[in-house]
Amino acid sequence: MNQGEPDDQNLGSGQSGTSSPSGRSGPFRAVAERQRLLSILWRGLTKRCPACGHRPIFARWNELERCCGGCGRDFDHAGGDIWGFMYLGTAFFTGLFIFVIYRIYVPETVAGRLAMAGVAIVPMIASLPRRKALALALDYLIRSHSG
Ligand SMILES: [Zn+2]
Repeated sequence: MNQGEPDDQNLGSGQSGTSSPSGRSGPFRAVAERQRLLSILWRGLTKRCPACGHRPIFARWNELERCCGGCGRDFDHAGGDIWGFMYLGTAFFTGLFIFVIYRIYVPETVAGRLAMAGVAIVPMIASLPRRKALALALDYLIRSHSG
């Protein structure tokens, strides 16, 4: 299997014939592209390889395998490339938290402040692997469209 190149295998299930949307034209191509986009994003959300859907892709809780056990795709190179998406995810949670603290009443007590700190920190930490897998999928999408 070619490492570093997009792989359209297992995408668009239910469609026989070509495994790539490049042979189609017009609305069929647009539908195939949308299916491919959604499939790759879903793989990211479910912590699967964006190229082939293999799982697991994590060696430890938040540590990616060096490469995919299904297609051999190299995950090592993506380490630095996915940081931008990780920062965007953190910014999203920060914005969400700011929105929440202006919308709910929190008692001005130590317990209230600790509860708010937990509400802010726990989801951000707990979602790290899923955000990393989604960032890997977004990186894969951009790389497959840029050539
Ligand atoms: Zn794979």
